Amino acid sequence: MTDSATSAEQQAAYSDDIYEDAANWHVNTGEEKIHPKQAAGKWRKLKWLTHSIWLILFIGPFLRWNGQQAILFDIPDRQFHIFGLTILPQDVWMLALVLLFFAMLLAAVTSIAGRVYCGFFCFQTAWTDLFMWLEDKIEGVPAKRRKLDAAPWSAEKVRKKALKYFLWVVISVLTGISFVSWFTDARQLWHDIFTGQASGTAYGIIALFTAGTLVLAGKLREQACFWLCPYARIQGVMYDKETILPTYDFHRGEPRGRLKKGKLVEGNGDCIDCKQCIAVCPTGIDIRMGQQEGCITCSLCLDACDAVMEKIGRPKGLIRYASMDEMEGKKPLPLFKRPRVIIYLTIITLAIAGIIYGVTHLGAIEVKVLHGRSPLFVQRSDGSIQNKYDVKILNKTVKDIPIKITVSGIDGLQLKGAEETLLAKKGKTGSYIMFVNVPSEKLESERTPIVFKAVNLDDPTQTSSYESMFFAPK
Ligand code: SF4
Ligand code: SF4
Repeated sequence: MTDSATSAEQQAAYSDDIYEDAANWHVNTGEEKIHPKQAAGKWRKLKWLTHSIWLILFIGPFLRWNGQQAILFDIPDRQFHIFGLTILPQDVWMLALVLLFFAMLLAAVTSIAGRVYCGFFCFQTAWTDLFMWLEDKIEGVPAKRRKLDAAPWSAEKVRKKALKYFLWVVISVLTGISFVSWFTDARQLWHDIFTGQASGTAYGIIALFTAGTLVLAGKLREQACFWLCPYARIQGVMYDKETILPTYDFHRGEPRGRLKKGKLVEGNGDCIDCKQCIAVCPTGIDIRMGQQEGCITCSLCLDACDAVMEKIGRPKGLIRYASMDEMEGKKPLPLFKRPRVIIYLTIITLAIAGIIYGVTHLGAIEVKVLHGRSPLFVQRSDGSIQNKYDVKILNKTVKDIPIKITVSGIDGLQLKGAEETLLAKKGKTGSYIMFVNVPSEKLESERTPIVFKAVNLDDPTQTSSYESMFFAPK
């Protein structure tokens, strides 16, 4: 047998396989369950990689950083601990910047490449992909899954369904536990849950998350993207004709037609109407009908079609990321010439600058000083001038620390009330009344700036300063 004969037979056998798959395909109208085929290829691998970001977030509370829980949103003490960084309510402006950053990033990415967030990063997609992968492993390929769903109950059906739901429930419970772990001591929670000592609230939230995960990822799947997701409703306004999306190259693909004896028919385009792109689509879309609202930009149809093109010896990319302008033969505009992208990127840059400023200026301790107003000053019997101050010290760390306060700015000044080392309680603000005395001959003006400085005696690199004013008579 010659090589070309072998190849023709292989192609013919392959075309039989794919047309059998196509025969089982149904349009998703919401009434029936979509059983997508598991795709393989570079986009599928990339999706698993991006989905794993959620895994890092969910194991974060179980990691330790400097002996403390790496991620802890401590609501009772109103502190957020993220990998050694402690954020208190007064730093909440940073949270606003972080939200602004993510909102603008989402807008910019959508404007450039459509719903890649949905396809690659969204938790709904990540959990649904994991659930469907397990379903495929336990119940088999789509045709077998449909057959099993339609079959009467038997020992085999009970075994497969029970195993699938057991694993789904395990993942859902772990999801709930991981979520609660963000807000409490994760290791203690783990112990408390299995010894029945966790709070009713913890059990309640875990039950809620378990049910929510099962319903969203196991039952609703793509319907959640269609009907529940607000982002899906608004993303259309962020698109323009330069947005690149998974697109079927109709110039190259049409007129479509099936292979004859494993070969393309003369005069036909490259699309062999195998419907593999539809078979793998988690939302049941036929991308050949044009860009559609239901497309979550997961790119699985790109993988499926590329595999088909490879097998029939045609170039890959019949379905690829392309803009409407490109399909109309126009030259794509460079990113930096697209006004909406420029606006989004400008806001993102400002938000990042603000976040960097905030993070680099978030000290472990913070000192603030209020000057006593009534009276502004007193003249003492020895002729010196005295001012009163309320010194507030915020300890943002997770342990009590000894603090030394000093003042500078005027020659010969004396600080009273800070002779002893102060103990700043962890996560708390302490308030201390102090007096500054200055001999009157050292004063040259009614108002002289002075600087209070707090130093952590356990770690002298941790300091905080605050500029105040010293008042004197005219
Ligand atoms: S676009 Fe590609 S995967 Fe889809 S039917 Fe045509 S050849 Fe098959
Ligand atoms: S059309 Fe393609 S990119 Fe869009 S959801 Fe379906 S498989 Fe994913």
